[in-house]
Amino acid sequence: SIRLDAVSKSFGDHKVLNDVSLSIEDGTFFVVLGPSGCGKSTLLRTIAGLEPIDAGEVLLDGRKVAGERFHVPPEQRQVGVVFQSYALWPHLSVAGNVAFPLEAAGKGRSVVSARVDDCLETVALSEFGQRKPAELSGGQRQRVALARCLAQGAGTVLMDEPLANLDPHLRGVMEEELSSFHRASGGTTLFITHDQREAMALADKVAVMWDGKILQVDDPDTLYRRPMSKEVAGFIGRST
Ligand code: ATP
Ligand code: MG
Repeated sequence: SIRLDAVSKSFGDHKVLNDVSLSIEDGTFFVVLGPSGCGKSTLLRTIAGLEPIDAGEVLLDGRKVAGERFHVPPEQRQVGVVFQSYALWPHLSVAGNVAFPLEAAGKGRSVVSARVDDCLETVALSEFGQRKPAELSGGQRQRVALARCLAQGAGTVLMDEPLANLDPHLRGVMEEELSSFHRASGGTTLFITHDQREAMALADKVAVMWDGKILQVDDPDTLYRRPMSKEVAGFIGRST
């Protein structure tokens, strides 16, 4: 489970997260939806431990990992992350990138290679294991980052617009794959997007974010039928 209690974060005098509270139950596919610049990546980074917070608390599976002047580093938070920019190791092959966190965690060789094969197949890159990131398209790199996150099999995965660079067909395929991966793993997924169609298609619950605040959290159907503000209605694509 993921929980934020009244989290605030400023860069200079710009309050990027303004008193954000969220509670995400185990097993939920939770989508944060909002326009560019509203603070989505910053929110994810505070949960992952890449950004300290100014006020409030972050709890992962009931354990406090961040507070005022309190910060558990990312590698001790046991979450898988896919970044908006894919952050691959340039000197490692595709398979090496996916294997890296598993090897770092001390997993045995046969376990690692089976899981790498499995995850590369999930993202339709089985043929590309020996290539270097520089020899891939943007969408292929993004899928490597996704495979690396899935391979860690962490109970909690945080994904920052992981499908944004894919063509519509591949995007549809990957949405299906992510859904079934999420269901099979039984873990908690936090998925960030600015695409309302994608949010509605994937989410158990959607949080609509606007200018550093969470405006409404609901299941997609309720959000569509009963938006509680003009901003939400406008963003979900239905007028009140
Ligand atoms: P996008 O959909 O474009 O990725 P986002 O919702 O993920 O946008 P963030 O990356 O969280 O938005 O940024 C929120 C705001 O915080 C933006 O105005 C951005 O310019 C600002 N910001 C983000 N990181 C920093 C930083 N390290 N220093 C100063 N300002 C920052
Ligand atoms: Mg972002």
